[in-house]
Amino acid sequence: MTQKEYNCQECGGTIHFEGICHQCRGRKKREGHQSLSEPEIAEKIERIIAALDESFSSKNEFEDFFDLLAYRNISTEKIAAAAAKAGVHYPWAIYRNATPAVRETLIARLMDPKCKEANDLLNCLAIAGGTDVLAAFLRLEKEPLPWSKKLYAPPSIYAHAGGWTFDEEGNRIELNYGVCFPVLPGDKSADHAVLVASPRAETCPHCGSRLIDIMTLDGRDSRLAFLGLSGVLRIPLCPVCATMCERTIVRYELDGDSSMELVECFEDSNRMPEDEYAEMTAKNFTLAKQPESLFYAQGCNDFCGDYAMIGGFADWIQDPQYDACPDCGKHMRYFASVPWSALSDHSEGTLFLEICQDCRVISAFHQQT
Ligand SMILES: [Zn+2]
Ligand SMILES: [Zn+2]
Ligand SMILES: [Zn+2]
Repeated sequence: MTQKEYNCQECGGTIHFEGICHQCRGRKKREGHQSLSEPEIAEKIERIIAALDESFSSKNEFEDFFDLLAYRNISTEKIAAAAAKAGVHYPWAIYRNATPAVRETLIARLMDPKCKEANDLLNCLAIAGGTDVLAAFLRLEKEPLPWSKKLYAPPSIYAHAGGWTFDEEGNRIELNYGVCFPVLPGDKSADHAVLVASPRAETCPHCGSRLIDIMTLDGRDSRLAFLGLSGVLRIPLCPVCATMCERTIVRYELDGDSSMELVECFEDSNRMPEDEYAEMTAKNFTLAKQPESLFYAQGCNDFCGDYAMIGGFADWIQDPQYDACPDCGKHMRYFASVPWSALSDHSEGTLFLEICQDCRVISAFHQQT
């Protein structure tokens, strides 16, 4: 039996239920938050604070919190103070703008050898950041407390939740970029700073599908200056195998010349049909004109997202993953992500892109639920 088809009442796309598609619902919700007035935002923050208790994550205010963080870049200072007072340590992003006094409270809780919430507290503090947090994490890395036996990772890995880590001497290492631009649906002929899913001539050595440049970045565009790329970066990969291998390694020059290599394919994949390839490479995206909140990717979309991201915090589907550079072994830095659903109705999950600029290497890997 074939599924009944409907048209999305917003964009006309094909869906299998009556109403509007996931992408349009995400966009409408985003636009709703973008049009809130300052007093309306203040009121929502008050409601979030009033809702902070152990069942917070099942309440509407939980979603409101992430939407305000993503689309209005709210300061979480007041929410963090109230959450610390109420003993609420989830979601961790509440502590993004925690004051030094609030961080001190959390660190004191964590330093209790009998602490039962070390997992949440480490994540909260990782997101809060600060030299005090780094000093505490370094101490706990070298002299673990009894609760560490119940955790699966040391503090230097927990720090990944905040987009950083540290070496043995306690030097902070950045794993994210502190600027964030979405790449939204929009006319690609007018703005070439970032292109998504452009066709390439070569075919995949593994499955025979035609390759795509999942992203082409013009580092000379002023909006991308934060990446420190002085030319054009193309990122070729196989649109089929990229989701069915451990990772794709791309070596690049800044004149647009790049090559790719698949690492550990899980299974044999079939060539992508021509019509699917045509659909994927015909999509239109353009780099936003203005930077947005570093948490933009973590808004309400649940990664039925209709846009890609450059910089900021990744919206990890599984645990944060920062690959080691295959050439120098150092941590790579997260710089972009593309939800496959933005490119094809048949795909799910997200492609994450990380870079080592010293070695001119990119790692591209897939996560899904
Ligand atoms: Zn739609
Ligand atoms: Zn392939
Ligand atoms: Zn390297």
